[in-house]
Amino acid sequence: MTTPSNLQDEVCPDCGVVLPQLSESGAAHRYVGASPSCWQLFSYLLNAGEPPVAPGQLNPLLLDAYCVQHHGTPSPQAVNSVAVHALALHGVLVAGVAPENALWIRQQALRDSADKGKHGRFYWLEPPELGKMLTVADIVNAPTPAARSEQLQAYVQSVWQAWSNRHGTTLAQWYAQYVA
Ligand SMILES: [Zn+2]
Repeated sequence: MTTPSNLQDEVCPDCGVVLPQLSESGAAHRYVGASPSCWQLFSYLLNAGEPPVAPGQLNPLLLDAYCVQHHGTPSPQAVNSVAVHALALHGVLVAGVAPENALWIRQQALRDSADKGKHGRFYWLEPPELGKMLTVADIVNAPTPAARSEQLQAYVQSVWQAWSNRHGTTLAQWYAQYVA
């Protein structure tokens, strides 16, 4: 884990990236645990396509990887956010669902037909240690759209590896019970 090099830098509590603090306080997300500067970098990348990223197989999983990595602190919304997005990663990277169908997995995970209410079916997963995963800055700082796409694929894989090492069995059970 790195420490800020000066007072204007801030550390994202969930991914450890060090970025300059925003001059205006950014609209941090309600239950995603990112620092405002990390969240802004991610939002530009996801919503504005800035900086541009070349097409890549796992590009549709950027949102899922980011939301799993930025787990926040235990609350019902954070528990569901991590679970749903981790199940999307499991579905594509383990169960062979097409990346374009990640939305279907997210919807299945929270659908109403399961035997438990959607607010009681998942529980808090202890996050992996910081420093085992790439960050969104690794994607943004790569020099070309193709290089950024390569980093994005590696980012998704690194988040999945770190989480599945700790929680792969639980996620497989949840997937079988609530998605498949
Ligand atoms: Zn972050």
